[in-house]
Amino acid sequence: MPAAVRYRLCPRCGRAVPTTSGERYCANDGARLLDACPNCGASITSPYARYCVRCGADLTPPP
Ligand SMILES: [Zn+2]
Ligand SMILES: [Zn+2]
Repeated sequence: MPAAVRYRLCPRCGRAVPTTSGERYCANDGARLLDACPNCGASITSPYARYCVRCGADLTPPP
């Protein structure tokens, strides 16, 4: 079985890219992509994640 795909998530627009893409910043708005939940460090395993599945933190808080 392949390892689970992980994603980086833009906290500004919610765009997700696979970590394998090597992108560090959002191509859309230049925000630094989240590697993991900033609150608990859980990795992001869904491209549709808006909240951390472990601690419930909002991954795309309003500015
Ligand atoms: Zn973005
Ligand atoms: Zn978390």
